[in-house]
Amino acid sequence: MNALGAVLAILNILTILGPIAGVAIVYQSNLQETIIPPQLQEIMNGGNGGGGGTDSLGGLSFGQPQFVSAVANGAERLVTIILNFTNPFNYDLDLNSVSADIVCQEHNFVLGHANLIQSTTLKANQTSNLSIVCQWSVDAENHFLNGHTAEPSIDVNIVGLTIGVNDITIQLKEPYAIPNLPISTNIPPPKYVSSITNLASRSVTLTFSFANPFPYDLNIDAVSANAECLTHGYPLGQASLISPVTIPALGSSNFQILFSWSQSAEDHMSIEHPGATSLDVNLDGLTVNVNGMQIHVPGSYQIPSVPLG
Ligand SMILES: [Zn+2]
Ligand SMILES: [Zn+2]
Repeated sequence: MNALGAVLAILNILTILGPIAGVAIVYQSNLQETIIPPQLQEIMNGGNGGGGGTDSLGGLSFGQPQFVSAVANGAERLVTIILNFTNPFNYDLDLNSVSADIVCQEHNFVLGHANLIQSTTLKANQTSNLSIVCQWSVDAENHFLNGHTAEPSIDVNIVGLTIGVNDITIQLKEPYAIPNLPISTNIPPPKYVSSITNLASRSVTLTFSFANPFPYDLNIDAVSANAECLTHGYPLGQASLISPVTIPALGSSNFQILFSWSQSAEDHMSIEHPGATSLDVNLDGLTVNVNGMQIHVPGSYQIPSVPLG
């Protein structure tokens, strides 16, 4: 379960980092000077463009890249972050590469590496999606577990940020520091509360409680998993979240999972577990949708003694 804590902590950092890194890219003065032809600068400085305010460049506003979604695969230690970015220029920006290391400030330890998945054209005056993939290592996971146990937050640096845009490569010389990213590596597993079995519909409703260790709400819209008999590894059916739930920041809530079993599962029960009143169930392939992130959790969860009637 600790490994899950590390995965969630890393995900947490990466999904917060995505948009911030985007801002770092946008606000690099180097980048602005390089990709804007001087004659265009002049026109823009004429104050002809929309927007304005402090976040503007010659009257053109750079919007902050917006977080769209993320898909994480804990087993492969990969997270794909999708950001939404508006190109304020009257010409296309061809983004060919983005790469950076994410480093723990305290220990100067590389936690992960970010890369643009594929070249993307940000169309003039349009909003486009960007996919950036981040990978972390076993060492990084261990670093979280051993170096940042029970810490509420971590300071990180984005190091070696390199961006290839319109055939120009730009490198950030100084690390870009991001303080106080909330993390928690102490994630208690959901606690089994109770269950209701409905023999007629061949289903069990399992109620769990979950304590949210993060200083923000967790919105869970979907959970799915394959349930199998723990003893024999026999597939019993699918488990899924009954209705979306919000676990308040630093609070606790119940959520319910419905598990339906198949006819073949019933046959397995009568042959291999005759007269059993409960069954040890193993859930694997667990996928959780939380705060717009789809997380594939590595490993499996054992639920002992699920009552059968
Ligand atoms: Zn560290
Ligand atoms: Zn069995």
